[in-house]
Amino acid sequence: MSKAKEVDDRFRRFGTVSFTGISKINDFIDHLHDGRITGTRCTDCGRAFFPPRADCCRCRTSHMQWFDVSGTGRLVTYSRLGFAPVGFQDDVPYCIALLDYGDFKVFGRIAAELPEEELTVGMKMITAVNKLPNGQINYVFKKA
Ligand SMILES: [Zn+2]
Repeated sequence: MSKAKEVDDRFRRFGTVSFTGISKINDFIDHLHDGRITGTRCTDCGRAFFPPRADCCRCRTSHMQWFDVSGTGRLVTYSRLGFAPVGFQDDVPYCIALLDYGDFKVFGRIAAELPEEELTVGMKMITAVNKLPNGQINYVFKKA
């Protein structure tokens, strides 16, 4: 009798719609549930990745360690979406944005409770854990 192989599909809990259930960075989901925002840093070249990556695109190695994303990023740009992909249509309108943390840039969503009128390019923002009504988890950008 064969024993079913156990699948680590923690990533199914990420985002409004999870496009992937299996990832090499599944610990990221546990970190979010613990209230931590984490990225990975290559121990060979020092390059930081957030969202986390398991492999360094510069060194082509997998020598990574976790770090906590702290401090503020600057709002590089943002866009208000009036139409959304399948699965996100109940969320519109919402704003997507790019933050620059210096070591890395990160793409994500502006917190739903933050009105677009309060956004200014260059403003300081933080990344925060966000629990969604459907039980999923993700991260959003808030005013610093
Ligand atoms: Zn590297």
